[in-house]
Amino acid sequence: MARRLETPSRIVTKSLSTVYTEYMESGKLDLSPPYQRAPCWTHDQNCGLIDSIMNNWPIPMFTIYKLSMADPSFALGARFECVDGQNRLRAIAAFRSGTPIPNKKGVDEYVYWTRPTDMKELKWTDLSDEERSWFNDYDVAVNIIQASMTMESRKAMFTSLQDGTRISASENLKNSMHPVSQFTSRTGLRDFLEPVLNGLMTASTQWIDVIADCASLWLHRDDADPLASLNRKQNELRRVLGCKKNASRNPVYKIELEAAHDATLFPLFESLVASLTEVKRGSTVRCHKFYVSLLFLYITLYGEAPPTEIIREWFASMTSAKIVAEGKAGKRDYDIYKILWNTLMHRLVDIGASGTDGKPKRHTVPKQKRNEVWTREFPGSTDGVCPCCEAPITVFNMEVAHIQAVADGGTNDATNLIPTCGPCNRSCGSEHLVSWCEREYPTAPLLRR
Ligand SMILES: [Zn+2]
Repeated sequence: MARRLETPSRIVTKSLSTVYTEYMESGKLDLSPPYQRAPCWTHDQNCGLIDSIMNNWPIPMFTIYKLSMADPSFALGARFECVDGQNRLRAIAAFRSGTPIPNKKGVDEYVYWTRPTDMKELKWTDLSDEERSWFNDYDVAVNIIQASMTMESRKAMFTSLQDGTRISASENLKNSMHPVSQFTSRTGLRDFLEPVLNGLMTASTQWIDVIADCASLWLHRDDADPLASLNRKQNELRRVLGCKKNASRNPVYKIELEAAHDATLFPLFESLVASLTEVKRGSTVRCHKFYVSLLFLYITLYGEAPPTEIIREWFASMTSAKIVAEGKAGKRDYDIYKILWNTLMHRLVDIGASGTDGKPKRHTVPKQKRNEVWTREFPGSTDGVCPCCEAPITVFNMEVAHIQAVADGGTNDATNLIPTCGPCNRSCGSEHLVSWCEREYPTAPLLRR
């Protein structure tokens, strides 16, 4: 019989003024642990919560986790993190402190209470003394988890408290406060790209942060709690990636390549490492920071590494560009920005990142399933062979074919998928892959399975 997980916790009742001063004003409650979704409440939802409180209607219990000294945010002053009730707590803090908070569109707005008698929109400072004590004395239930839980199990608890269903890894990434989330959401990407593409050099610092975070998580993919190592490792990586020591004397940095690993923690960074490996397999690649940024951007945009020819082209442009300003971003950086612009700007429209009507490019088979299908056929290798025509294929250029076409009732289940070369996948059309092979390639490996 499965053992029931024990999570000793204490449910207490606290007044809102206590919750506000003890947890929020003091900075002791971390509202954005890595597993949390990005704040997603609208202005109306924020104000609606305050309205419930002022009307003395009940609101759901908050769940917070008591941190231990081993948690990275402990060193930053946090003693608790918010597992459930993040949006509610943000609205409460914004109203009580009189500080505007960003709405869904990123525009700062005050949280108001609309007084029903005169329909006035009131900030905290506009309330009467009596109304302030209504708010301050309102009691809420707080569930304080005191058992030691890993980040993974906190995440699992967060997920089950949301709506009872688990969220996927990519959705988690998208919703999390981790900086990589700005690349996985199209609006975040657009906001971020504008300054980059317009040549503001400061934006590159953010690139470095994101890549350093990904690299750090990737390097610690086998740890029980990879996030715990993040702070230790990321500063070091940031120095290396950002060429902080002396940009003019050390214009390139080195990435020590390891073989691509099957961990699923950061598939994006794995793609980065895998495509660098493709350029110069099994050795150290010397790269300019913008080159790696560019590659990373491409991978996040398209969900796959660019063709090797493009990588080589970027690599060549990078080495031929020159630095004109010592110690600062100079002509060389500018040249690489131009490459970034030329390569990506016109394609942004296609994937909808430019804010136009374009639809995002999508693989019919999700990236994770593509990887799963590839690993099943060619475990531990980036090279393989087409099961129909026997042409060499790689994890980068393969296509995932449906054995029974979707048009013919086939599913996206992994058992119905197989990596093939592009020409075979396209020529087969909606015909059954086996009968197509019997006609076109009677000796195909597929037919001997
Ligand atoms: Zn083929």
